[in-house]
Amino acid sequence: MTDTNFQYIDGEWTDGESTDEIAVRNPAAPAEPVVTFDGASRAQAVRAVTAADDASEEWSNTAPSERDSLLYDVADRIEARQEELAETLTREEGKPISSSRGEVGRAAEIFRFFAGYARSATGDTIPSNDPDTFTYTFREPLGVVTIVTPWNFPIATPSWKLATALSTGNTVVFKPSSETPMIARLLVQILDEAGVLDGVVNLVVGAGSTVGDELTTNERVDGVSFTGSTDTGQHIADTVADRIPVQTEMGGKNPLVVLPDADIDAAAEAAIGGAFGGTGQACTATSRLLVHEDIADELTEAVVERAESLTIGPGMEDPDMGPAVSAGEDESNFHYIDVAADEGATLVSGGDRPAEMESGYFIEPTVFTDVHSEMRIAQEEVFGPVLSIIEVGDFEEAVSVANDVDFGLSASIFTSDMARARAFTEQVEAGVIKVNGTTTGSQIQLPFGGMKASSAETQKEMGQRAYEFYTHEKVVYRTDP
Ligand code: NAP
Repeated sequence: MTDTNFQYIDGEWTDGESTDEIAVRNPAAPAEPVVTFDGASRAQAVRAVTAADDASEEWSNTAPSERDSLLYDVADRIEARQEELAETLTREEGKPISSSRGEVGRAAEIFRFFAGYARSATGDTIPSNDPDTFTYTFREPLGVVTIVTPWNFPIATPSWKLATALSTGNTVVFKPSSETPMIARLLVQILDEAGVLDGVVNLVVGAGSTVGDELTTNERVDGVSFTGSTDTGQHIADTVADRIPVQTEMGGKNPLVVLPDADIDAAAEAAIGGAFGGTGQACTATSRLLVHEDIADELTEAVVERAESLTIGPGMEDPDMGPAVSAGEDESNFHYIDVAADEGATLVSGGDRPAEMESGYFIEPTVFTDVHSEMRIAQEEVFGPVLSIIEVGDFEEAVSVANDVDFGLSASIFTSDMARARAFTEQVEAGVIKVNGTTTGSQIQLPFGGMKASSAETQKEMGQRAYEFYTHEKVVYRTDP
């Protein structure tokens, strides 16, 4: 079905003007296209940035109470349309409907949380050495912020970027993933219906290769907040980070360490949730299970038993695991299974398409043992439900293997020795660390972001100070005449 009006520029819904056709398929039944439409052109990207720039002064001067009310209204509208949003998300991204409902609910929670920034993202008064001089800092919006997001949390991720940017007085050009444009359009429709001023939010749905560079390098853009793959994030940072603030949150290769004194059942549950939840398509997914050799057999057995009991199916049937999002991800998953087998890893569970599922990008939850840290399967992000079990001899080796990757997003340790746990938090190279918990999952009141190749490490997203990225801080020494 060909659809229209995917672009929202300066308060007007309009069609894409490029020759790129964007085709959304239901990953559970890819023979049926959900929607096709023309993507945005580079000229439309320029118009969107211009509209955002033109709206910037008025929006940055609105009363904080007005911005705060808008975001509360958006939260209420998201909740009121939760089922429609969740079904749209599942149809285009494939995740189980209960996960989609959860993500939509979280988007509403995010808008409420960041609404408060409009009144609280503030500076400090600081004592001055000179009694005649009043010294303080204040914050002002960057101006126009380009927001680029991936498909795996296609309403939550845009929500925390949009809500933070808007509450602090920025205008936005939002470029969602081409895999999940429908949920992006619904979110912007909600902002439109809530009465956002023309030009304050612009939606450009186009291929990254066509509109991406314009949206990030245009001279009227004052900041870029990106979440996605390390290659794309690095490209954006290399192109513009010397001129404007750039926030990039990227891939991961996250370790879960299990020591002999751990609760094995709890560790197995966490490994399953972290590795196979969301079909392994989370930046914080557990992809390496680093297990002490004394408990390796017991833990492997517990993990395999649980993996084989997971239900797989179309997201609308609410299984434990839906399909991969796209043909590209499907191909990549099976490619990495071949790579691991060729490298000498032992396939102990999964590795195939589930029986009787000929169409759809379905894959069994897959577990490899005999994995060594130098193997590609232990180094590269798979972004699918493939778990590598690596045996280690002691805590020191576990930390060394955990850190032996380019990435540094999340990490977890299961142990009952809290001194060891603390040492792990100090020694592991990861931006988010769990003790006796899954590598996935985060709470919006806590900062989120990675280290090393997982992040530019400018400012973290979410949490009490996420506004820092979206604002300039100015320092004033005021001596009254
Ligand atoms: P991706 O291919 O890098 O795409 C991300 C976004 O960048 C999409 O909107 C894409 O548009 C756009 N893009 C592509 N080329 C661009 C360019 N030259 N300039 C500007 N934008 C461009 O990543 P993905 O496959 O969607 O997402 C999966 C990746 O995201 C994984 O690596 C995962 O770890 C990472 N991720 C990280 C986090 C985190 O917080 N650390 C969270 C979630 C996901 P098109 O879709 O049109 O190509």
